[in-house]
Amino acid sequence: MFEDGSCSRQFETAHAREVLRYASGSRQRAQTPARRLDFGPKGPLHDAGVGEFMGKGKEERGDKALGMEQGITRRDFLNSTLLASGAMLLAPLTSAELLARAAAQGEDWSGPGGVGDYADSNGNTLAVLTAGHKIRDHAYDRLPADVVETHETYDCVVVGGGISGLAAALLFKQRAGEGMKCLVLDDHPIFGGEAKRNEFLVDGHRLIAHQGSAFYFVPYPYSFIGRFYDSVGLKQPRLEYQKWGGPGPEMVVSTTPYGAPGLDRGQYGIFFGAKFGQKPGMWVVDPLGKKLAGAPIPEATRAEWMKMLTGTSRPGWQEPRPQYDGDPVSRQLDTITLEDHLMDRYGVSREAVRTFLTDEGSGFGLGPDALSAFSAYAPDMLHPLPNGENQMFPGGNAGFARLIMKTLLPGAISGGDSVEEVCRGAVNFGILDRLGSATRVRLNATVVWVQHDGEPEKSQTVTIAYARGAKVYRVKARAVVMAGGSWTTKNVVRDLGTAQREAYGQFYRSPAMMANVAVRNWKFLAKLGITGCRWFEGVGSYMQVRKIALVGADSPTISPEQPIVLALKVIFPFPGLPTDQQGHRGRYQLISTSFREYERQIRQQFDDMFSRAGFDPKHDIAGIVLNRWGHAYLSPQPGWYYGKDGKPSPRDVLRAEPFGRIAFANTDLSGNMDHRASILEADRAVRQLLDQVVRG
Ligand SMILES: Cc1cc2nc3c(=O)[nH]c(=O)nc-3n(C[C@H](O)[C@H](O)[C@H](O)COP(=O)(O)OP(=O)(O)OC[C@H]3O[C@@H](n4cnc5c(N)ncnc54)[C@H](O)[C@@H]3O)c2cc1C
Repeated sequence: MFEDGSCSRQFETAHAREVLRYASGSRQRAQTPARRLDFGPKGPLHDAGVGEFMGKGKEERGDKALGMEQGITRRDFLNSTLLASGAMLLAPLTSAELLARAAAQGEDWSGPGGVGDYADSNGNTLAVLTAGHKIRDHAYDRLPADVVETHETYDCVVVGGGISGLAAALLFKQRAGEGMKCLVLDDHPIFGGEAKRNEFLVDGHRLIAHQGSAFYFVPYPYSFIGRFYDSVGLKQPRLEYQKWGGPGPEMVVSTTPYGAPGLDRGQYGIFFGAKFGQKPGMWVVDPLGKKLAGAPIPEATRAEWMKMLTGTSRPGWQEPRPQYDGDPVSRQLDTITLEDHLMDRYGVSREAVRTFLTDEGSGFGLGPDALSAFSAYAPDMLHPLPNGENQMFPGGNAGFARLIMKTLLPGAISGGDSVEEVCRGAVNFGILDRLGSATRVRLNATVVWVQHDGEPEKSQTVTIAYARGAKVYRVKARAVVMAGGSWTTKNVVRDLGTAQREAYGQFYRSPAMMANVAVRNWKFLAKLGITGCRWFEGVGSYMQVRKIALVGADSPTISPEQPIVLALKVIFPFPGLPTDQQGHRGRYQLISTSFREYERQIRQQFDDMFSRAGFDPKHDIAGIVLNRWGHAYLSPQPGWYYGKDGKPSPRDVLRAEPFGRIAFANTDLSGNMDHRASILEADRAVRQLLDQVVRG
């Protein structure tokens, strides 16, 4: 029960929205009105109030003052300065020109990757991007004459080494029985897909942050997911976290980069910059407590925003809450956009939603205008344990990828199999693809061609070709799980059936970037009296201090004096454009902006927002790692979940049965970008193959 006597319903709604967003702080507050009663201790400058901490009263600072020469990057200055940023380009480039520009920057496009096992694998690096785009540009429409024949035949080949692909390999191993062989192919230098991590060394502290997939919910213990967690060694899904280490009264921090607990406790800030006519910018600290007083917006806008911030639905509004996946309520929700749904819910204008709720769909990569309204409720269908606090490994759901890998190949991560050892251990890359092993994991391998040897329904094997370095290699399999995602599967399965091709044609994936910024301390936030904040222009739109789970924390305590990583999640919405076009434009921006340009923007952003609170970008930023995900999220448009015009939904077509010897997995098939969906889709795909193909 919450303080006001209400119980799980608010939690469930909050849960839906938190998944919906894995993002914005503001909504978390909006969905948990009961928690408003729970006032916590205030930060040191809690009463600083509106406008006290103004941005610097000067124009943008030069590169030197921003710390651009601090040597955190491995850039070639000459190269970088020759390259215009995407925003500055006058005429749009073709995709080939765009890639050529990125390629001209070499390593500098990907930027530094931090330290440790993930140092060469920050998001889709240039090498991954280049290999992937060659598929799209038809470089492999015919296999090259010098394709290398490996003479390997597997019972199952899994394309994609994210959580879905790794789970598929594990479930195949557990169920197929002795002697069955499986190969996982992934295009990145390390397994995990979007569930990877960055590591930083800052003043002797080792800091870990997520590259993409971040947190998880505590599952029901006997649910499929609960048992799966247990089977990979996560016996206690509730983790222990850092405790407050002062100095000063305890400030409220989250267990995840989301959730904005400070919003309820007066420890949250909203920054208003040039978009709101503020140059220099200004802060409203404790926007809820102050009811947005002092915010540079008209009274009517303030009233609309307060409704959204507090989660106050318009009088008489009844939440259309689905009872089960596919009931009439969910089908109705799937006929409208999330934007229309939110306007109706709060009784606010389209402009208000587009200005203040841009993050509402960020768990699906775009703004509410592009998404089915059901996307807000789809995560509820995964049924987490009510009242389970959101959990996060230090490197996000990279923790799951590592636990699965340790279970598959115990030697793959050094040390024992406790969660802590798996989080902290080093990856033994030599173990992953060992001759004679029942399961092999081959990295840096971009699958470019998958085709049945003969008619799909009659063939006995499938040919899979992958590019690695300058060569293309060929293996064979009795069964295949395509776990890489819609954006690649539709291009590499050469003989894909018409129904499946049409279905995948309705999957639109949108880009995102996770910019991880390591700072030497967060005294500037503490001075403002905040642990999280929101802004509306520049790079990203929110940040949140989080306490780290002890299974990988650098220190048992958290304090503003210590270094931390602040994650800026960047999505690329273009409200009003069709969903697919928003994705194309976003990718254009993501690819055409050099690391150096992003670095400058981030430094400028921090300078604008925090320099009056003592932040110096030159000294206080210890490292920046960009994780660019070209096809980060499925963005389900209206009609995606349940089909349109009497046609089945695309996900149903792909989930119904294998296509010949090929079954489909990846989280995007569920319409939930969620690691639980990755596992559930893998489970279905493996069952289908074992029932109908391998043993059929
Ligand atoms: C920024 C961000 C934040 C997120 N936050 C959360 C969160 O907090 N919690 C949560 O549960 N989920 C979150 N997600 C959703 C995330 O998608 C899932 O949790 C999960 O990591 C997806 O795993 P997957 O295996 O289904 O797909 P992916 O992780 O995309 O794995 C697919 C893998 O296959 C590879 N691949 C694709 N094509 C080929 C090919 N042709 N050849 C070889 N390899 C190929 C890909 O490069 C990738 O490595 C987030 C996603 C993003 C982008």
